[in-house]
This record gives sequence, C-alpha cells and structure tokens, in this order.
Amino acid sequence: MSKQSVSILLADSDLSDIDIIKSNLSAYDDINFNFDTARSDTDTLDKVEGKKFDLVLMNQDPPGINGIKMLKEISERKLGMPVIMIVAVGEEKLGVEAMDKGAYDYLTREEIKNQSLNRAVYRAIQRKKLENDIKESLVKLEKLAIRDGLTGLYNQFHLREVIKNEFKKAKRHLQPMSCMMLDLDHFKSVNDNHGHQFGDYVLAQSAGILRSIVRDTDFVARYGGEEFFVILPSTNLKGSFILAERIRVAFANNVFKKDNISELVTVSIGISSTTDNNVLNDEDLIANADKSLYRAKWRGRNNVCTFEEAEVEEAITIREEFQKMEDFYSRLRNINENIKENCIESTHDILREIEKGWDYINEHSIRVSRYTEKLTRELLMAGEDINIVKRAALLHDIGMIGINSDILRKRDKLTTIEYNAIKRHSNIGVKIMEKTKLFEKELPIILYHHERFDGSGYPHRLKGDTIPYGARILAVAEAYDVMMSNTDYKKAVSPENAIAELKECAGTQFDPHIVDTFVKIVDKEH
Ligand code: GH3
Ligand code: MG
Ligand code: MG
Repeated sequence: MSKQSVSILLADSDLSDIDIIKSNLSAYDDINFNFDTARSDTDTLDKVEGKKFDLVLMNQDPPGINGIKMLKEISERKLGMPVIMIVAVGEEKLGVEAMDKGAYDYLTREEIKNQSLNRAVYRAIQRKKLENDIKESLVKLEKLAIRDGLTGLYNQFHLREVIKNEFKKAKRHLQPMSCMMLDLDHFKSVNDNHGHQFGDYVLAQSAGILRSIVRDTDFVARYGGEEFFVILPSTNLKGSFILAERIRVAFANNVFKKDNISELVTVSIGISSTTDNNVLNDEDLIANADKSLYRAKWRGRNNVCTFEEAEVEEAITIREEFQKMEDFYSRLRNINENIKENCIESTHDILREIEKGWDYINEHSIRVSRYTEKLTRELLMAGEDINIVKRAALLHDIGMIGINSDILRKRDKLTTIEYNAIKRHSNIGVKIMEKTKLFEKELPIILYHHERFDGSGYPHRLKGDTIPYGARILAVAEAYDVMMSNTDYKKAVSPENAIAELKECAGTQFDPHIVDTFVKIVDKEH
C-alpha cells in the first residue's frame, strides 16, 4: 500500500523548533511528510494562499509571527486548512484562546519533542478528512434530490441534467426542441398583500396548472423562487409559442382562491428554441429563454416572447392565428349545440309518429328540463354544464320506447316482472342515444336518473356522491313533475304536498342539498 502524503507548513521563526518537529514527525513512518517553512507573517500568508497544505503548525509568538492574527487571517480566507498552535510552556491559556479562534489543537514547546506531536498531527489530519467526507456527502445528497419540496416539480439541478440530455438527443435525431422560462408577475406584492403562506399556495397551484397543460413527455421544473422552466422535446418555435399562449391565458383566467383570499396572478413567458440562430448548446437555450422572458416583462408582463426580433414578428402572426382559431372553435361549438338540439327534437318527432301517447312523455320531458335548468342555475352551475343536464332531461325517458306498450298503459298495480321491465328504460335510452355519438356527457345522467341517494335505486345501486350530479338533479326534477301531473290513472298532488314528499325523501331517495335548493326555488315562485 502506498504511504499517505501530508504537506505541512511550519510557521515558526525558530529554526531549532523546526528541526525538532521535522525529525520527530519523520520517525512516524506510516506517512510521507512534505514540509515547507514560513518565517514571518507575510511569508505565512503568501504560502497558505499559494498552496493547499494539509496542516499548518504555527508557533504562537516567536519574533516576526503573530499566531493569533495569522489564525484569524487564515480563517477569513476560508482556506479550510487546519492549524495547530505551538505555545510556550506555562502559556497554555493562549493555546485555549487559539482553539476558540478556530485552531484544531495546541501543543507546548515541550510537547513537540515527544509523542504528543504525533498524536495531535494524526488527530488533526483525521478530523480534516472526516470534515471533507461530510461535505462531499452533503453535495452528493443535494445532487440526489431531484425534486423541489414545495411544488414537487424537478429542481434546477435536475433540470440542467435533463436539458443536457435532451439537447444531445435533439441533435442526434435532428429534432427541434424548445424551452420556456416563466416568471409570475408582481409576485412580491402577492406575498406582501396576503402573506408568504398564500404565496406558497400560489406557487404549488401554479405547478399544477403547468403540469395539466403540458404533455407528459415535457419536463417542468421550478427554476427558482417564482420562476419555472419547461423543456419541450420535439417542439418547434411555433408549437412552443402556441403552448405558451395557452399557459398565459390559463393563468390570466384563473383566480387563486384559498380561505377568503382571491387573487389573480399573471405570468410572463420567454421562449427559446434550437432554431434560434445563436444556439450552440443547452446553456444557450437557458440564456435565450431568460432574455426572452426579460423582454416579455418589458412589454408589460402577462406576455409571451421569443428570442429574436424577427421571431417576435412571426409570433405576432401566430397570436392572430391563435385568436382566429379560438373564434372558429367557439362558432363550431354553437353549431354542435344546434345539431344536438335538432337531434333531440327529431327524436321526439319520430317517437310521436310511432308511439301513441308519446306526446305525454315529450311534454313531461320538456317540463322536467325546465325544472333542471332552474336547479342548475340555483346550484351555480354554468355554461355547457347546464346544457348537458337540460339535454339529458329531454332525453331521459327515450328508452320507454323499448318497453311493451301494454305495460306502459296499464292502470292497475304493476307486477314485479312488469316493474322490472320498466326499469330497463334507462339502459335502453342509453343504447339508443349512444348510436348518435353526440351525447357522451348526457348518457351517464340518463343511465343513472333512477339511482337513489341511499343506494337502493337502479340500474347499478349507486350511492350518494357516486351518482352523477346531473342524475341527482334530474331525479328531483322528474319526481316533482310526476307528482304534479294528472294522468289517466292518478291525480296530481298540490305543490305543497309534492314539496312535502320531496322533503320526506331527502337523504333516502334524493340528494338533500338538491331538494333544499329546489324547495327554495318553488318558495320563491309562489
Ligand atoms: P416581476 O413581475 O418583475 O417578476 O415582479 P416580482 O414581484 O414577481 O419580482 P421579484 O423578483 O422582485 O420578486 C419575486 C418575489 O418572489 C420575491 C420573493 O419574496 C418571492 N418568492 C420567491 N420565492 C418564494 C417562495 O418560495 N415562496 C413565496 N411565498 N415567495 C417567494
Ligand atoms: Mg416575478
Ligand atoms: Mg422572479
């Protein structure tokens, strides 16, 4: 085994001390000692700055050297060199003072002549090694942690690893690659106005927004305080701009809500891409994204910017295209709604032709649909969600067409077999309507509108919240209409009695909150 090498600086103006130390330590044959000497303060400082010694042995107070002052200088320079102070016999308190100021140990001038010297040197070397090992382990641990604690996103350290790899891959496969650097706007004032805890909440939520918008194959990292970074493999500048705009709009339309605090926080985004003409390596991608972000801030925040001015021009066209597409989608949505409405009307028209008495089911469906509309609004639902429940209401009894007419018209009490036959109407309705491929969201409401809140309904005995919300709304609306309608075989009850019955069945047949809401609506109307 090769011997360990240890370099020692002997800071001492007394040559005889130096000789003693050298010969004493050299007897220690496990270690190869390399000695250097310094015989004044300046000499000592020059030496420690010029070379990394494993140990400094310093005489406390010989002519020309002020040991305590040197100790302070060495520690201020953060050189990480252990120092053992040598003091005169009887001056041990100076040794203790030196240890207070950062020396590893002290020896008297008597002790440098005996075994104590070896022991102290050996201990100092061991201790230094231990300190180094701990430092190295900490660095390794830091590198092993790849995620940021607050947001769960990758941390900057890991991001830098990933971007290196992705850049290499992109080059190898001749694929484009883009990056986004994002910074929340005026985040300082979010903290100032609502406190750090709310700030942290916004950061965690922002991470969720980002993750929900980007693809699974993209990499999202927390770059720093309120800065995020996204790596978009196989994505060109145009693609990344469209994505960045989507993110910008998502933030602009989002309200961060916690307890009784509501706050709007916008984001500025800088884009870089392998097609930027100055990009030679992964570092350039980070630098370009950073510069673009700066420009996005400069443009007034809540903005997306690409790296080059020429690209900025192009970006503006993309922004226009994006707006055009949004308009187009919204008009397409309207057409789609018209198609659905027409389909429902035509369905009832056909059924009226082929089934005597369908008028009753049609009118019942229209009334139920009106009740559901009021309910959904009172329950603070909005937009498309209201339309879905309304359409489901118009279609909920379509499956009755598959039930034997004699059973439907029977005035006497139904037998179990007949009742079971009627129960099939929810399933049949879904089977018929799914063929149109138009009512994906309405179908579960149709299928489950006879489930009961306590789990005793049909077809699947769903219970409580597992029953689709729309189906729970429809159940209340339908029951009210059935009770309030005159038929050949039963008379309508009064609104008061219908309401009393709904209340009676709240929690068993019906969702109690929906019943409460419905009661409120009826109370208001009367
Ligand atoms: P700008 O629109 O220019 O980006 O304005 P800004 O206020 O967002 O910018 P600035 O960089 O001055 O402030 C960033 C703030 O983000 C300051 C800092 O207190 C806050 N911040 C950074 N990290 C965290 C964190 O982990 N939690 C919370 N709550 N705040 C943080
Ligand atoms: Mg900011
Ligand atoms: Mg910032």
